[in-house]
Amino acid sequence: MSPVTRRAIVAGAGVGGLAAALAVSKAGLDVTIYERTEALEEFGAGLQLTPNATRVLARLGALEAVRDVAMVPDAVSALRGSDDAVLMRLSLEDAERRWGAPYLALHRADLQQALARATERKNIRLRLGSTVSNVTAGERVDIEVTQRAATVEEGADLLIGADGLRSRIREKFARGTDGLAFTGRVAFRATIPAGLVEPRWKQARVVLRLGPNAHLVHYPLRGASVVNVVAVIEESWRFGETEHPWDGVADRPTLERAFASWSSSTRKLIASATNWRAWPLYARPALGSFALGRIALLGDAAHPMVPFLAQGAAQAIEDAGVLAAALAEIDDVPQALATYSRARVSRATRIQAEALRQGRIYHLKGAMAVARDATMRLVGPRRLSARYDWLYGA
Ligand SMILES: Cc1cc2nc3c(=O)[nH]c(=O)nc-3n(C[C@H](O)[C@H](O)[C@H](O)COP(=O)(O)OP(=O)(O)OC[C@H]3O[C@@H](n4cnc5c(N)ncnc54)[C@H](O)[C@@H]3O)c2cc1C
Repeated sequence: MSPVTRRAIVAGAGVGGLAAALAVSKAGLDVTIYERTEALEEFGAGLQLTPNATRVLARLGALEAVRDVAMVPDAVSALRGSDDAVLMRLSLEDAERRWGAPYLALHRADLQQALARATERKNIRLRLGSTVSNVTAGERVDIEVTQRAATVEEGADLLIGADGLRSRIREKFARGTDGLAFTGRVAFRATIPAGLVEPRWKQARVVLRLGPNAHLVHYPLRGASVVNVVAVIEESWRFGETEHPWDGVADRPTLERAFASWSSSTRKLIASATNWRAWPLYARPALGSFALGRIALLGDAAHPMVPFLAQGAAQAIEDAGVLAAALAEIDDVPQALATYSRARVSRATRIQAEALRQGRIYHLKGAMAVARDATMRLVGPRRLSARYDWLYGA
């Protein structure tokens, strides 16, 4: 433990920034989080939170608050999109024993609120409506914070860049050679009131439907009062350079066309949702390091990933746990951040690549899809669970 309390600035109060603030404050640092929005987002979409992430939340003392607002799915079931034939069933009943922590499904806003409440500690300050810019680093880190019309300077021992997919802090690492690339995939997300959904889809279960050039995932949230649906399709169009990808207005006819030949239960789900929002999915080249002197990147700022392994938020939470452990052990800040980076780059980069690969497998068509389906049917339950040990058990 350092004799003098080290000060950390966190840019961004998404899942990654809040988890980092909590973790780092528990390691004894004094933390200020700057978030550019005036309020924590309430917009609606679900997240699966896998055991590799909930294990870290348990260590941070935040798991019970998160579990209180989550569903605990009993399985992930994969169905053939054309006729709902079951291809595979990954049981989650044993998840907590096998992987040491629960598999949860919850609303992103509920997770963010639970984490925000956990950060109400005397050594954490959350400043909303505050945009971080102009970062300079040497013996310490200096930033400018713009709050409405005023700009103030702030300094700290380290800066944690948790400012998401369009991170400005990442520009310091990649120097303009690191553009976002549209993946040709768009995720449409909606929540459907439970009253409009067949009872079987309100069971606490993650259902994955696979078909040519598309897939669809759904699971209930908030005590099964709503069902969260994510439909991913391949598209050549994009939404331009909008600052918030979630501002994309969903092109409903495009969505309905993509699923026109799928089972009637799939089409019914799509027709029941009225609040579709579109997220164009982007990829970025992997970074060789998540640390640069006194600056660390974390979450989507460090390793944005397509959502096909449900790992973006989970990896941000893993980052937070590892970063805090390094800072707890090593007084020298640049050394601690370098240790964090070494511990995280290869796993996060592997998961980024695996998520892209998973997307290609999900969207196979013709003979390749038939072969995939046959293989999925052959994998027994034990082998199936074992396939996820590297991801959930780490
Ligand atoms: C369709 C879809 C489904 C998904 N499903 C899952 C899932 O099931 N499980 C899972 O683990 N992950 C999932 N993800 C991924 C997950 O949502 C993200 O990886 C995760 O939210 C990233 O968190 P973050 O904190 O790194 O970034 P963000 O949530 O983007 O937070 C960044 C924050 O920084 C703020 N900010 C930006 N710039 C500044 C600045 N200059 N100054 C101050 N503040 C700033 C922003 O306002 C924002 O609040 C999914 C993603 C998509 C698109």
